Formats: sequence, C-alpha cells, structure tokens
Amino acid sequence: MIEKRDFYIDGRWSAPARPRDCQVIDPSTEEPCAVISLGDQADTDAAVAAAKRALPGWRATPPAERRAVVERILEQYEAREEDLAQAMSREMGAPIDLARNSQATALPYHLKNFLRAFDEVEWLRPLGDHAPDTMISMEPIGVVGLITPWNWPMNQVTLKVIPALLAGCTVVLKPSEEAPLSSIVFAEMLDAAGVPAGVFNLVNGDGAGVGTQLSTHPDVEMISFTGSTRAGKAISKAAAETLKRVTLELGGKGANLVFADAGEKAVVRGVRHCMQNTGQSCNAPTRMLVERGFYDEAVEIAARTAQETAVGPASEPGRHIGPLVNKAQWEKVQGLIETGIKEGARLVAGGPGLPEGVNRGFFVRPTVFADVTRDMTIAKEEIFGPVLSIMPFEDEAEAIEIANDTPYGLTNYVQSADPARRNRLALALHSGMVEMNGKPRGAGAPFGGVKLSGRAREGGAWGLEEFLEAKAISGWGLDAAE
Ligand code: NAD
Repeated sequence: MIEKRDFYIDGRWSAPARPRDCQVIDPSTEEPCAVISLGDQADTDAAVAAAKRALPGWRATPPAERRAVVERILEQYEAREEDLAQAMSREMGAPIDLARNSQATALPYHLKNFLRAFDEVEWLRPLGDHAPDTMISMEPIGVVGLITPWNWPMNQVTLKVIPALLAGCTVVLKPSEEAPLSSIVFAEMLDAAGVPAGVFNLVNGDGAGVGTQLSTHPDVEMISFTGSTRAGKAISKAAAETLKRVTLELGGKGANLVFADAGEKAVVRGVRHCMQNTGQSCNAPTRMLVERGFYDEAVEIAARTAQETAVGPASEPGRHIGPLVNKAQWEKVQGLIETGIKEGARLVAGGPGLPEGVNRGFFVRPTVFADVTRDMTIAKEEIFGPVLSIMPFEDEAEAIEIANDTPYGLTNYVQSADPARRNRLALALHSGMVEMNGKPRGAGAPFGGVKLSGRAREGGAWGLEEFLEAKAISGWGLDAAE
C-alpha cells in the first residue's frame, strides 16, 4: 500500500502535526490503494505562514523569472506524465487511456496557454492619454487557498496553481481527499522544478477541516474553489468574515439542443460526451433536448449508443467508462435513477444496479431516460453519473426556455447545420459557455459559469486575472527631474 502521510510545507515534506489517517479507495476494486493524512489547524497554519513569509520575495521576483520557474514545471511533465496518469486512474477510477490522454495532458495544455497569456500582461501601464500621470499596476492578490475536487484532478490543480504562481501569489493547495495522489506527484514536480520554499504548499485534508480552515484564515486573501454548489455556498459564507475574494467553479446541468438537421452523429456525440469520465464532469451535456420531428429517432440512437458503451476497470486500456469515484456517489446516482423511474420517465437504456457480470466496484449502467419533463428530479438535479435525460421541444423558443429553466449555467450545447440558427441560440442561452457542433473552445478561452454554476473564469488571460488586483496610482512622476 502506498503511504503518503506527509504534507509539502515551506519547501519540504513534513509529518502532520497530529496523525489522522485516511484511506484512498480504488473505486474499481473497492480496496484501499493508499493512505494519506488529513491535516488539522496546526498544519494549515504552518502552510499559510510559509506562504506568507515567501510572498514578499516571490511577488518581487521579476515576471521573466517567475515564467522560467513555471517553464521548469513543464519540463518535469515528461518524466512524471505516467505517474500522474496512474495516480488518477487509481484514485478516482479514470480508465487508464482517458487518464493518459485527457486527464494528465490537461496539465501541459493549460500551462502553455497560461504562459501565452502571461506574455501579454501589462504589469504597469498608463490609464490613457487623457490621464497621463495615472498608472495601473497589476499586482498579485497575496496568499491564496486553492481547493479542488476529484473528478478532473490535474485539470483543476493546474487551472489554479499555475496562474497563481505566474501572478506572483503564494499558495496553499488542498486537493480532494478522494483524489490526493496526483497532487502529491504534482508537488514532487514543483519541488524538482525548484519552486522557491513556501511559494507552493500542499496540505491534505477534508472540507470540514483544512477546507474550512483555509476559508476562514485571516492571512489568506483569496479562495479559488472547484466542486459542488453546496461546498461553494459554505465557503462563501465562511470567507465572508475576512472579506476574501472567492472564485467558484461549481456544478452544471447542461442542455444539448439537437435539431433534426444535425442528424445521427450529433446524438451519438452527445451521449458519449454525457458518459465521458463516467458522467462526472460539471460541463456534461446531461439534458438532451430534441426537435420534435427527430425525437423518436434520436431516442433510439441514444439508447443504442448507451447500450454500446462498455464499462470496465480503470486499469484496463480501452474506450470504456470506469466506475464512479466512491460508494456515496454510487448510492446517490442509483437513488436518482430510481427516482427517474418512479416519477414516470421512460427508461430506454441501463437502469439501476451493477452492469451485468460485475459484482464489485462502483460501476453504473450507462442509462438513458426519454420523455423527461421539466418538473422531474432528474431534469433538475446534477446527477454526476452516466445518466442522460431526453426531452422534446417544438421550436427554438421552447428549446431556449427549457434550456434556461435551471438554476445552473455552465455549458450549453447546440447541434444544427444552420449557422444563423446556431449563432442566434448561442446568444440566447444563459450560461458561461456554449459549445456548438462538437467544436471545442479555442486554447485559452475562459472556462466558467453563471448562476449556481459559480462565476469564476479559469484558463488563459481570464484565469490569470483572477489572481491579480489592479492598483491605480495617480501623480506618477513623468519627468525624472521633477
Ligand atoms: P465537493 O464540493 O464535496 O468537494 C470539492 C472540494 O471541496 C474537496 O477538496 C473537498 O474536500 C472540499 N470541501 C468540501 N466541503 C467543503 C467546505 N465546507 N469548505 C471547504 N472545502 C470543502 O465536491 P466533489 O464531490 O469533490 O466534486 C463534485 C462536484 O464538483 C460536482 O457538483 C461538480 O459539478 C463540481 N465540479 C465543478 C467543476 C467546474 O469547473 N465548474 C469542475 C469539477 C467539479
């Protein structure tokens, strides 16, 4: 069994102040695969104090030198890529090919986009010709607490740690206690890259412990959080007393508007996207809205695609989906499938229980419900499992109304061969992102939502700005002889 009890504080690995073991469970086998420690107040305080001590030096480090440090993290990636993939596959159940090709590669992808955005930052610039002695100085916010979830571990960690470091902030990272192993590899990479002591610190822990301690800590200026809407609200309340900046990336209930002219391919793509990462993505297109004339055919295609979706252990190569992360999520998803049936949705693929021939692991049958109505629980709640809800719409106006009828607003999707219609809909949908015809967002585009999905913007220039504050300086000396 892997033993990783230490925390990375002030440039070295140190034992927890008080031992509190926590097992990491492999969701494919339900067996423990590692043991970590959950930190307490003394560990959080030590990490925050180290970050506070390192702040003056790091914020004064010239941007080009901060850039060089981040480039050295990228150099570490090649040597540790497989370790990251193996860690994620084991801790949260991503099938190894997905872990290698998507989960791990998120790190170099985002890191390179941040470097590009970093090169465009004007650290000190005049306000404009109308006010020549007013300068705008972009400055790091200070010590930041970063709290991340288990579903895309390295994606979330990179989207927070890298821009924070580039901005000149010092950080304390608390990864999910469900998926801490990849973050430990990440900390080893930063150590090997020569990130100065105290600039990056890692303390493992749970939400009630280290998560809350960071959110309430008087020396932490900002919390950047990704996870559930429940925890996002708790963090906002906890951080209110010290008036921290709080940025939140939360849940979603994405609508996928499928028009008849988009055809079979769009339905297949929508189902696969919903099931990817075993449905554990905040931006999953979980509500498929289909134009009435194409509805019956689309339901058949979706059911067939789900039935063809293989389920298997995370360690096996292939395009199958893996288990859910843990027992609690498995029970939650089973409960929602049962509720869908009870409330009258038509089950056309999958259903409750383990997939055929499986007797251990948190596996779920790829499930599709048709004839879902807006008032049903499965149409409203984020399921976070491989469960798709399909409903018909008559026209564009009704499609928009159904799509926007949710407290969430992360990503919506449109599938249509008509470019004018696509553009019209993109502007009418109330969400932070709209993805059309399967085209991914360009490198460096902001990722984030509106309403209960949180209002953070991560990635590229927007993601960097979240860690900066604009200082306005008037009376700037224009004439050195003045
Ligand atoms: P979670 O909110 O339970 O946990 C996320 C992190 O927050 C963990 O590190 C956890 O320890 C910590 N935490 C929990 N309660 C806390 C509290 N009161 N104070 C401080 N920290 C606390 O969520 P999860 O189960 O790990 O992740 C799944 C959820 O995250 C889903 O709802 C999903 O949609 C959302 N998510 C959103 C995005 C996004 O970018 N919008 C990305 C990934 C996941």
